[in-house]
Formats: sequence, C-alpha cells, structure tokens
Amino acid sequence: MPRPITATISVDALAHNLEVVRNHLHQAALAATTAQGQPLSPPSIWAVIKANAYGHGIEQAVRGFWQAQGLAMLDLNEAVRCREAGWGGPILMLEGFFEPSDVEVLDRYHLTTSVHYADQLAILAEGRRSRRLDIFMKLNSGMNRLGFAPDAYRAAYQQALRLRDDGVLNHVGKMTHFANADAPEGIASQMDVFNRVTEGLPGPVSVSNSAATLRYPTVALARDDHGAWVRPGICLYGGSPFADADAASFGLRPAMTLASRIIAVQQVRAGDAVGYGSLFRADGPMRIGVVACGYADGYPRHAGTGTPITVAGVRTRLLGRVSMDMLAVDLTPVPAAGVGAPVVLWGEGGPSVDEVAQAAETIGYELLCALAPRVPVHGRDN
Ligand SMILES: *Cc1c(COP(=O)(O)O)cnc(C)c1O
Repeated sequence: MPRPITATISVDALAHNLEVVRNHLHQAALAATTAQGQPLSPPSIWAVIKANAYGHGIEQAVRGFWQAQGLAMLDLNEAVRCREAGWGGPILMLEGFFEPSDVEVLDRYHLTTSVHYADQLAILAEGRRSRRLDIFMKLNSGMNRLGFAPDAYRAAYQQALRLRDDGVLNHVGKMTHFANADAPEGIASQMDVFNRVTEGLPGPVSVSNSAATLRYPTVALARDDHGAWVRPGICLYGGSPFADADAASFGLRPAMTLASRIIAVQQVRAGDAVGYGSLFRADGPMRIGVVACGYADGYPRHAGTGTPITVAGVRTRLLGRVSMDMLAVDLTPVPAAGVGAPVVLWGEGGPSVDEVAQAAETIGYELLCALAPRVPVHGRDN
C-alpha cells in the first residue's frame, strides 16, 4: 500500500469559486450602474492557473474553470497542456515570452501574450506568422516588477497600435498589477498612475488580482465596449488573499484537501519530549498520534506546536517540530483515534490552508504551490 497521504482536488469547488467571483462582479456592476447613472458591465475573468494551477493540476483547473472566459499562466508548456486538455478559449501569458522562438508557440497555440519591455515589441515586429497575435501591454504603475515605465508606455502603446494596423497584431490591451490590493495602502495610487497613463488609449483593460477583485470590484468593471478582464488566482482555489479576512467569509470553498492517516500512537508521560529538538514536552500523561505527512510532502516545517489539524473529524493541534516525513499531533481531544484514523492537514473537514500558513508565518499560496510531487493528486467531481 502506498503511504496514506493524498491531495484531493474538488473540481466542483473550483467551479463554485469561479461562480462566487462572477456573482461578486455582477453585483458590483449593478450597484455601480445605479450609483453612477451609466451602464457598467462586469469584466470577463481570466482564471489564473500558473504554478500547476497553484498546485491543483492543470487538467483539474481546465475542468473546474471551464466557464471562465480565459485562462492565465506563465509557462508555455502549461499553456500547451491546456490546449491538449481541450481548452479552446483565450490563454494569457502573464510574463510574456522569454525568447524569439517562443513566439512560434504563441502563434501555433493561439496564445495571448503580455508585452512588458520594448525588445518584445521589436521581436513581434519580425518573423512570419500564421495569424495576428493578441497582446496586453503591461504598465509598471508602481510595483517595479514587470512593465513599461509610465513615461515610456504611451509611445510603446502607439507602436503596438501601428503593428496592429500593419496586420502583425490583432487586439492590443492595457494591463497592470497591484502591489498592495490586500493591504491598507490599497490600489489608489497605482490606479491614479494607470488611469493617467492609459487615458484615451483604445483596447481592453486588465488590472485586478484576487484581492482587488474582491475588495475593489468597481475598478474592474468595463467602462466602454473594449471590455475588461480580471485576473483572480488564489480565491478561485478557496484561499484568501487577505490576512484579515478568511476565504469562507466570501463564500469560497477550499478546492484542495490534503489528507493522511495516523500511522503510530505513543503514550507519553510528564516530561517526555516529542520529535527533533525535543521542542514539545508533555505536562502530564498524554497520547500522541504520528501522521504520515512531513515537510517533504509540502507541509511547512515552520508550523509549530499549536498549529490546527483535524483527526477523525476533531480539531486538535500539532506538537513539536515537523519532520521530513512525519509530524506529531495531540490525541487528547480524540481518545478513540488510533492507527488508521483519518487526518486532514488542510482543506475540507480540516483547518483552512490559510490557518496553517499563518501558523508557519507564510501565506496559503506558498503551501498550495509547494505541494510536493510525491503526494498523489486525485481530482473528484463533487
Ligand atoms: C499571480 C498573478 C495574478 C493572480 O494573483 P492572486 O493574488 O492569486 O489573485 C494576477 N495577475 C498577475 C500578473 C499575476 O502574476
């Protein structure tokens, strides 16, 4: 029998979360239309599935996000896998392309690319292709990661429009990315830069990640018939982009459940220590469960004593230091649990991935993406 650890992906939860986001944007459009006296439409959704769909698997994501208008990612191989899985809709490459030969792949698989520095436009201007490419021109509105500087953007955009007029490009759009949509700083200063720099330039707009989509849905609405796109990622997997609001408060469901079993039980006495470094010491007699899950499975080593974990449906706590292949739990609240008892590390029926991440001083994103290749991933429809 293989080790009892598995990650189960609910395709239904992915689809449900997409619907939650769609409804949220729809409500925002209705409210804004009433308040502003002009019709505003909900944006289209690029479901972000980079990093193997945040650890959930590309094929699962294609099924779960079948109703999205587009998929966004950054690995060309993952884009090809989407096409092979039957996805015929738009695909946006968030980091653009990396070398001239990649443009052949964009062409062959009909991929939309972001363009974030001038050489990429020069590369697009060269070479023969079977069709006109769709692009989004990326503005660096303050994050200083990818994108044209504000004072270079309009000239680059005009150049892209000329390539469109010359029959090289098809749609040309405007995009930027927020550094603080999840934080008190918010998006105002970057939106000011974006609005000022892109004013009057034609084309669809794409600005919002999960945090901006959930917290500032109005900025994402389509204001003209060029349309608008949002780019939510984490919330579609049932994770929260916020430190101060959990995913359940938005009606989101965890799509990944990491589960295992108790493989040994130890009865310890007062003063006995548990695990490497003897970081946990028992105050009195207690039962300890040993779970087949460790940092080599992607469970964070920095999660310490007290991290929530569920055994046989009962919430209890992790004890001591996480080892490579195992971790220890307190069985005091589950006296009937023995070897074979089911354990949920995170997901449905267990703590949220964000709770575990918080205990390890990281974010749910990192834990989902870092699920180790040795953990078997099973998709299920419900
Ligand atoms: C990852 C990413 C997103 C999605 O971010 P979330 O916080 O997961 O919603 C959106 N846009 C870009 C450019 C990204 O790199």
